[in-house]
Amino acid sequence: MTVNEILAQLISFPVLGGQSNLSIAQWIEDYLTKHGVTYTIVPNAEGTKRSIHCRIGPAVDGGVILSGHMDVVPVEGQSWDTDPFQLVDGGDGKLYARGSCDMKGFLACCLAALPEMLAAKLQRPIYFAFSYDEEIGCLAAPELAAHINSTYKEKPKFAIIGEPSMMEAVVGQKGIVIYHTTVNGSAGHSSRIRTEVSAITEAARLILWLENKMNDLVARGQIDDRFTPPHTSIHCGIFERSGIAPNVIADRADFYWDVRVIPADKLEDIRREFDLYCETVAAKCRTRFPEFDIKTTAHHPPVPPLDTPVNLPIVDFIQELCGSKDLTAVSYATEAGQFSEAGFESVICGPGSIAQAHRANEYISKDQLAKGLAFMHRLIEKLSKK
Ligand SMILES: [Zn+2]
Repeated sequence: MTVNEILAQLISFPVLGGQSNLSIAQWIEDYLTKHGVTYTIVPNAEGTKRSIHCRIGPAVDGGVILSGHMDVVPVEGQSWDTDPFQLVDGGDGKLYARGSCDMKGFLACCLAALPEMLAAKLQRPIYFAFSYDEEIGCLAAPELAAHINSTYKEKPKFAIIGEPSMMEAVVGQKGIVIYHTTVNGSAGHSSRIRTEVSAITEAARLILWLENKMNDLVARGQIDDRFTPPHTSIHCGIFERSGIAPNVIADRADFYWDVRVIPADKLEDIRREFDLYCETVAAKCRTRFPEFDIKTTAHHPPVPPLDTPVNLPIVDFIQELCGSKDLTAVSYATEAGQFSEAGFESVICGPGSIAQAHRANEYISKDQLAKGLAFMHRLIEKLSKK
């Protein structure tokens, strides 16, 4: 099958982050089986989703993991000119579909190169590591990476995460976490302003603290020029359930916020400081309303940043594969930090542009797909050398 044919098949499974991915997983498993490759699945507890990993080549140390996710983001509310779940050749050198660049294009390159991998005399192995639920917080990657560590006796050395990077080597990414904070105050007539506790006012105080915290980090010189913006961002994106009438003190306010950290800042530190501030606010409010409460929960475990030192062997390795010394960093989160934490030297490098991801009329250019395939070819050549 050509890379286009494989991509068209992958696109036809409209598996969104959070949904069962068994349909697309089954297709990939059948493809692997057809080529005589045995694979391992890493199912979730309910058996409704699963990651897949496999090894191609000898069971020796020093192999390379090719990692990608099988899920995509929704198309609701976007105005598409074509059916998003059918690969459409626009006749303009571009292939349109949801997931064409993020990131089924990379998966298609891996699978299209499989026959060549099998025919080559690989001296070091290649591993496929395909996950689910990446788009809702990189949920499956930690278990997948740990599973690879426990399944194979040999130790893979490198992990290439094929997120769209225009086939450029990316050695840094910001980490991210999303929080939901609920403030419980006391309801009452708005004239009782000195007696009740407005959840809205207290929530606003907390949101302002977040903004100040971000500015404070910048003022303290926590800057990393590889990123745009070059600092940790803290942002409240949703403020809801805030009151019922102008003359009623609100007893509840909910807000959602995210933190995108540069590698030099720690998500846990920011969270700890926020919790401390919440305790101070709560202690004050409880003198008026003893049940006053602030609760913060994380939407998903924090996704760690990626900060691969340039002196690690993977950097030379990827520079040679890319045919370029350029190294960049990205402000979006991927599974690369998680693979790095699992002990694999990790970089991001994949076909397509992140500018096309997550939007209407997402596409991957045929040129990028060809570059992705050429990358696979060079990888196979490199790993076949004695
Ligand atoms: Zn992605």
